[in-house]
Amino acid sequence: MKYSKLKDVLQEEPGYRLSQAEHAIYKELIEDWAQATSLPIKLREELNKKIPLKIEARTQEKKDSVKAVVRLSDGYTVEAVLLKHGQRNTVCVSSQVGCGMACIFCHSGKLDFKRNLDAEEITAQVLYFSRLLKRPRQSVDNVVFMGMGEPFLNFENVISSIKILNSRDKFDISARKISVSTSGVVGRIKDFSHIGFQANLAVSLNAPNDALRSKIMPIDKKYPLKILMEAVNYYTRQTNRKVMFEYVLIDGLNDRPEHAKELAALLKGKLCMVNLIPYNGDDIFKPASVSATAKFIQILRQRNIEVIQRQRFGKGIDAACGQLVYRTYDPKV
Ligand code: SAH
Repeated sequence: MKYSKLKDVLQEEPGYRLSQAEHAIYKELIEDWAQATSLPIKLREELNKKIPLKIEARTQEKKDSVKAVVRLSDGYTVEAVLLKHGQRNTVCVSSQVGCGMACIFCHSGKLDFKRNLDAEEITAQVLYFSRLLKRPRQSVDNVVFMGMGEPFLNFENVISSIKILNSRDKFDISARKISVSTSGVVGRIKDFSHIGFQANLAVSLNAPNDALRSKIMPIDKKYPLKILMEAVNYYTRQTNRKVMFEYVLIDGLNDRPEHAKELAALLKGKLCMVNLIPYNGDDIFKPASVSATAKFIQILRQRNIEVIQRQRFGKGIDAACGQLVYRTYDPKV
């Protein structure tokens, strides 16, 4: 499935064929070239041979979310999740096979890094769900790079994929509805300030001081909070856009009132909001209690820090944050 090969295949054809073919892929959301009725039959057959459109995936569904395990050409799989909020749909994409960040609370972080996804492997995850939503006459409204992998260690391909998502002739998803989440790759936060379109930056903070953060997120040793916050300040100065700090609340670890106070002090005066994420547990850690969460929110709000709470999605199908993994594709499973 290499749409960039389209140009080559259509080289001998009149110029308008390329836009007809792209329209069929991204607007009509065809799954087989036979459905591309604007193209001559011979060409459809050739395209089916050279650029098959099938996206091989298995899905698991729960009321509010669908997880897709998408097969890549080399046999690895990555996972993407569709989150449904009423009529609106968000897709959470993976940017790498595996992840090298080794955050101790994250499932994906326990896997080795295998390889980067290319731009089309990233957008294929969105295309898969666009096709799924075609019947109920819905579409993908938001895309978040919060699946498996560290998007800022695959910067060029991530930016290329955002351009495809953003393109009028393709997905036509506004940059403002696309968010990239990083564990804190400082140089790339600065680069992200200059991409020239208004995609959102999210930074996974998860702790208000280096002593704790470096224990749970190894990247903190390389880029401690002072350096991270300098990069974030640079970003907000350059773009005048709000940064979202993600904070996964884990029982007894980072959910105490003193953590909330320290967090408020760290973020004081910054153009930002805090997104509190309920921890999706494994055996070692437990999610923060309802009362600890309420107290945490209260402390932040009292100190004028904007807080939003993420809904719990994808439980029961291991499709929640930090639960996405890769496997080698086994067609029998
Ligand atoms: N590597 C990027 C993007 C993937 S992680 C990053 O670190 O931002 C996306 C979000 O899921 C991060 O904010 C991370 O802190 C959070 N997360 C990881 N494991 C989780 C878990 N078990 N429960 C809830 N959120 C988790």
